[in-house]
Amino acid sequence: MAKINRRAFVLANAIGLTAPPRRSFGRAPAVLRQSVKPIVISSANGHRFRNGGTQTCVELAFRRIVDGDDLLDALIAGVNIVELDPEDASVGYGGRPNADGVVQLDACCMEGSTHRAGGVAALEGVRTPSKVAQAVMLHTDHHLLVGSGAQNFARQLGFNIEADLNTDRSRRLWLEWKRRTDPNHYLDPNRTVAQSQVDSELLAETLSDTDEAYGTINCNGIDLQGQLAGVTTTSGLAWKIPSRVGDSPILGAGLYVDSQAGAVGSTGRGEANLYNLTSFLIVEYLRQGMSPQDAGLAGLRRIQENTREPRLQNSRGLPNFGVTFYVLNAAGECAGVSMYGGSNRTYALCTENGPELLPLEPLLDGTPND
Ligand code: ASP
Repeated sequence: MAKINRRAFVLANAIGLTAPPRRSFGRAPAVLRQSVKPIVISSANGHRFRNGGTQTCVELAFRRIVDGDDLLDALIAGVNIVELDPEDASVGYGGRPNADGVVQLDACCMEGSTHRAGGVAALEGVRTPSKVAQAVMLHTDHHLLVGSGAQNFARQLGFNIEADLNTDRSRRLWLEWKRRTDPNHYLDPNRTVAQSQVDSELLAETLSDTDEAYGTINCNGIDLQGQLAGVTTTSGLAWKIPSRVGDSPILGAGLYVDSQAGAVGSTGRGEANLYNLTSFLIVEYLRQGMSPQDAGLAGLRRIQENTREPRLQNSRGLPNFGVTFYVLNAAGECAGVSMYGGSNRTYALCTENGPELLPLEPLLDGTPND
């Protein structure tokens, strides 16, 4: 379990820890357990962005959980802060667009007790895809809606559809990418190195924060009844081929939750995660009794072992990309693990002691480019 710095900072609303949970209409009965303290874990952007307000994602979600709100509603309210914040260029409004300059968003949510889930992929025009994913879960018999169908569904449910989710910044980044890279966008079958120099140069020159290179927000939580839930939302891989869908909206890849075992979500190279359904795998490792850190590292090891194409390996034969997992087990213990470490590689946590950013536990030494 991650070591929690027991700071004096105590959230005022934590006094409400004994408040009974408010249940939303239509929610199925849950698997209940007593004596679990609420925790919210997320990618680092969950404690970086406030969208002009006073609280970050993990703070708001935690407060709402201790106030007795529905767990998934609380987590989605948290990630909405990041989706709506134009400063986070990897999620929602102002997310990095695809190769055509269009912002296409992926999201997924899951309740671990009812095992209900909803997802949307390649959704255009809605700033908060996580809410549309939740609407798919609540109002349909399906799990995943994509593209224009997902947008029509959102429109029918009253979501505001905008013509363009770009900000000046995301448009400028796209134009720069287009100018430099268009001729090489599609993979050359004879090429052995995938990480283009241009991509890394552009990231280094234009991103204010190295975590932005790994995009996406995943946020998982446990409530007083021991119920688990999670949500992952993203603009996906920058400059992707239009309609490319990553791991974020795919159950088992970018997110998986079971209140008997754990909640796991991911950021980083989605394809690696899709090839291994690693969030599901890590939840199964938790079910077998592994600690969150060991389970997460075992999931990363599976990705490493299955990364066999030379174009995806560095000079040491190791993965030349980053993947991170945010792991919470049914006992309320958690860990953040990533393929590689680094001074700025952190995840966010909020407990009764307040929010904090903690270092990710790396599987491998060095960097993806060594
Ligand atoms: N996992 C996301 C995707 O592949 C991207 C990211 O987290 O950077 O779409």
